[in-house]
Amino acid sequence: MATRSRIECPICHDEVSPGRRLEDHLVDDHTKRKLAKFVAAEVEAFEEEDVS
Ligand SMILES: [Zn+2]
Repeated sequence: MATRSRIECPICHDEVSPGRRLEDHLVDDHTKRKLAKFVAAEVEAFEEEDVS
């Protein structure tokens, strides 16, 4: 049987336990502010790359 690849939370790098969804982990373990910060940082990093 194929073993499921483990999912790691991109924010806290915790392993999401099997049977649990990353989505649930994000909602339960991280505040909206933390999630927003993470997404904002990603977008900003992407935009910086775009500037030559
Ligand atoms: Zn996390």
